[in-house]
Amino acid sequence: MKKYDAIIIGAGIIGCTTSFELAKKGYKTLNIDMLSEAGAGSTINSCAIVRAHYSTYDGVALAYENFFYWHDWENYLEAKDERGPAKLMNVGTILFKTQGHDWQKVLEQYRNVGVKHEEGDMETLKQKMPIYSDKSYYPPAMPDDEDSPFWQDSDKKLEGAIFTPESGYVNDPQLATHNLQVATEAYGGEFLFNSRVVQIMRDEEKVLGVMLEDGREIAAPVVVNVAGPHSFVINRMADVEKGMKIKTRALRHEVHHVPSPVGFDFEKDGAHTSCGDTGIYFRPEVGNNILVGSEDPECERRDWIADPNHFNRNLTAERWKAQVYRLARRIPELPIPSQPKGVVDLYDVSDDWLAILDKSDLKGFYMAIGSSGHEFKNAPGIGYMMGELIDACQKGHDHDNDPIHVTSRYKGYDLNIGFYSRLREINTDSSFSVNG
Ligand SMILES: Cc1cc2nc3c(=O)[nH]c(=O)nc-3n(C[C@H](O)[C@H](O)[C@H](O)COP(=O)(O)OP(=O)(O)OC[C@H]3O[C@@H](n4cnc5c(N)ncnc54)[C@H](O)[C@@H]3O)c2cc1C
Repeated sequence: MKKYDAIIIGAGIIGCTTSFELAKKGYKTLNIDMLSEAGAGSTINSCAIVRAHYSTYDGVALAYENFFYWHDWENYLEAKDERGPAKLMNVGTILFKTQGHDWQKVLEQYRNVGVKHEEGDMETLKQKMPIYSDKSYYPPAMPDDEDSPFWQDSDKKLEGAIFTPESGYVNDPQLATHNLQVATEAYGGEFLFNSRVVQIMRDEEKVLGVMLEDGREIAAPVVVNVAGPHSFVINRMADVEKGMKIKTRALRHEVHHVPSPVGFDFEKDGAHTSCGDTGIYFRPEVGNNILVGSEDPECERRDWIADPNHFNRNLTAERWKAQVYRLARRIPELPIPSQPKGVVDLYDVSDDWLAILDKSDLKGFYMAIGSSGHEFKNAPGIGYMMGELIDACQKGHDHDNDPIHVTSRYKGYDLNIGFYSRLREINTDSSFSVNG
């Protein structure tokens, strides 16, 4: 039977940052993925937005820290990928001051953490983004709710905006994951594709390894669940859910592409924008397009998926209209094509929409899950925390009773990994949405 120091289930962006950090520590790692290449799961359809606005101190600190990983991407990787490096598109973020977003809380955390930001009024913003309407329509409504005030003309104005220059998006999330695979391999890490884990091998108290669909068994004293939207399936295989207060499930999500209004180069001059007033986020996309996703406002039905192997991968008219028509409130000259264009994938959502980065009650079995639609950006920092957590616990540290803290690499923040515990109570400071 083949043996490794650590098996990582999943070769998405977080699976690869986790193996990279473990390999750097000298662990002989194996990432196993049922798909044919790295980053082909939910990572491939990520909007890959890198922004700092989260609702807690820990969330803002981790997200801001991660901007600097992306900024320093090639140094961080150490190894060169012949496909070339993924790129951070440093376009900045506009966060509107609106009732639809707890921006006061965000601002307070920006000050506490030291996130570079500017506050501005709508007149100043209009000079930068002449295509944006400055009207307020809150609360957002679905298009079939035609009588809602949201769809009527409004004489209310948005209060203003907060701009964070150190943010943007990563141009190619799958390439970023491939870069990490190469970086991990440079430290001796291995990857096994087209191989589905169907059983977690264990005894009463510890994990022993995994079994694949073809019956092969692979042994390791450490197994890490980084299976994205399949995280709950793997936790059930390991029989560890009963020892968790916070659990995960899969949520279907659509992201749409629409052209920028004629005469405005959104790809070059646009910014990532978070608009709680209309319940959407959007950013520049190649071909002078705008990529738009939902911030999960109350008017929207949540599409929970019981089996992450089977869900509707086609765009639907309902979601297309909901997101694109709301975008047209903010950008009134938006041309709306008759055919929907975009992607469909799953979020791995935890009960409070915050990640679970933890050990489990089964010795040697760890998890980096519950990324809730917002952890692509944090993957490098999460990999670092997982490496430290796993190494310390394997050496006997009692993380449940004495949570491990790490000093973040770039900004020197004290990051408490216990914040992401499976044993936490629901964090009521969370936005309970993709905003984290
Ligand atoms: C539409 C969409 C937009 C998003 N936008 C953003 C954004 O703008 N910014 C941001 O920060 N985050 C965003 N996210 C979230 C981000 O993409 C995810 O948090 C991140 O990609 C998760 O990475 P992962 O490695 O945990 O999971 P995944 O990439 O899903 O990888 C998990 C892997 O595990 C494998 N696997 C599962 N079960 C098994 C098994 N039994 N055996 C073997 N392999 C298995 C899968 O094949 C998969 O490749 C978005 C997500 C989606 C879906």
